[in-house]
Amino acid sequence: MSDHFDLIVIGAGSGGLAAAKRAASYGARVAIVEGDRVGGTCVIRGCVPKKLMVYGSAVRHQLSDAASYGWSLGESCHDSSVLLSKVRAEVDRLNQLHIGFLEKAGVQLLSGWGRLADDRTISVQDSSGVETHRLTAERILIAVGGRPHRPEIPGAELGWVSDDMFELQQFPKEVVVVGAGFIACEFACILNGLGVKVTQLVRGDHLLRGFDRECGLAVQEAMEAEGIEVRLAHSPAAIEGQPEDLTVVTQSGERIACNGVLLATGRRPFLAGLNLEAAGVAVEGHRIPVDADQRTNVPHIYAVGDVTDRINLTPVAIDEGRALADTIWGNKPRQVDHDLVAAAVFSQPELSSVGLSEEAAIKRFGSDGVKVHRARFRPMSQALPARDPKVLLKLVLEAATGKVVGCHMVGEHAAEIIQMAAIAVGMGATKADFDRTMALHPTISEEFVTLPN
Ligand code: FAD
Repeated sequence: MSDHFDLIVIGAGSGGLAAAKRAASYGARVAIVEGDRVGGTCVIRGCVPKKLMVYGSAVRHQLSDAASYGWSLGESCHDSSVLLSKVRAEVDRLNQLHIGFLEKAGVQLLSGWGRLADDRTISVQDSSGVETHRLTAERILIAVGGRPHRPEIPGAELGWVSDDMFELQQFPKEVVVVGAGFIACEFACILNGLGVKVTQLVRGDHLLRGFDRECGLAVQEAMEAEGIEVRLAHSPAAIEGQPEDLTVVTQSGERIACNGVLLATGRRPFLAGLNLEAAGVAVEGHRIPVDADQRTNVPHIYAVGDVTDRINLTPVAIDEGRALADTIWGNKPRQVDHDLVAAAVFSQPELSSVGLSEEAAIKRFGSDGVKVHRARFRPMSQALPARDPKVLLKLVLEAATGKVVGCHMVGEHAAEIIQMAAIAVGMGATKADFDRTMALHPTISEEFVTLPN
């Protein structure tokens, strides 16, 4: 095969794979360059292995509820090495599957790190920087994703980032999780559910900034009730000690002993080594800015996914990649709708939402312009075990029209339920539309269509 392509994609993660396969399906000659494992963050060190661990961790609730339903199971214990190795095996399977999908699509895969030599040439290099291939293309797509960002404190290198959690052989006894975002909360819950003692250090005064505040509080309450020690207004100043025997020194001078520290303190686009200057690609802060057609300032160079730091979620990266291919090679021009993207936190309990939080709605419509309906109750699944947490459902309306501008939930299956509610919200449903939908009983989500006016 020649070394000249219609499209070279740098990065075989969610966005890059989607764009490469879709473009090839329209007959484009496509190469994809990947420096690590095909699949990217989502498949290798993100959504997929994380969710498998959430399932593993949540078994604890089923075990503890079992006696209320008459089951006697004897004593149970958990071996995290089994879970971790099974998760890795599943990731290996998916990695192979994605390599097969590329082959089937006729996309040429090149292993190595892509570096722009000029605005149409990519140098593929091995991990020691030796060039293994040189390719040229009519168009280039940068889909290199992001990397975890470590705080700049002494001893930060002693901590783990989320990538490391999937490589551990076993979870230790006590872990300090630093961060308030979805990755921090999800890992705090996973570890806690598997019997690890977790202390979570949060710089601000609440968890899950950006989500509806009341929902964030409901998650925090539940996490604390499950035994996670959430310390608000606490930041680490240093990490000291040896692996597995560490001390986190907080900014107020407190010392917290633990066997591991997870630094879940944000992610940044991974621009290192791309040599963007050689092609004249502009950077804004840490991200590559693009227009609504995913185009950078260089008209034939594009970027999708986390490297653009817009909405950093897998389905968004995939849709951006596909929209690009549909527009250029499919003769079906379209732009991605970044509005009303549903999101979830796979904490225990889950939080999921679509649309505006109560705070964001008040900002947009003023406090008199917003009406909120909520329900908080113990779900039937927790009646016999008589345990909390209570479910929280919330509809945020534009008062003048009754239009549902935000739909939020904390509780079991929240993500599955909000995925469906997102269709209605996206279609502009009003509270009256929700109300005239017959309830499906007995369910949790029926409360969304029976909220009093
Ligand atoms: P990536 O998937 O990160 O792919 C980029 C690829 O480019 C990588 O494989 C990388 O090795 C490669 N690369 C980088 N530089 C180069 C180079 N110079 N040359 C060659 N290759 C290069 N999203 C959800 O929607 N739901 C979730 O539940 C969820 N959970 C997450 C949990 C965790 C712990 C993390 C970290 C993320 C999670 N995300 C989740 C976010 C999601 O994984 C990302 O939004 C998504 O993977 C972004 O896709 P991307 O194509 O932009 O980049």
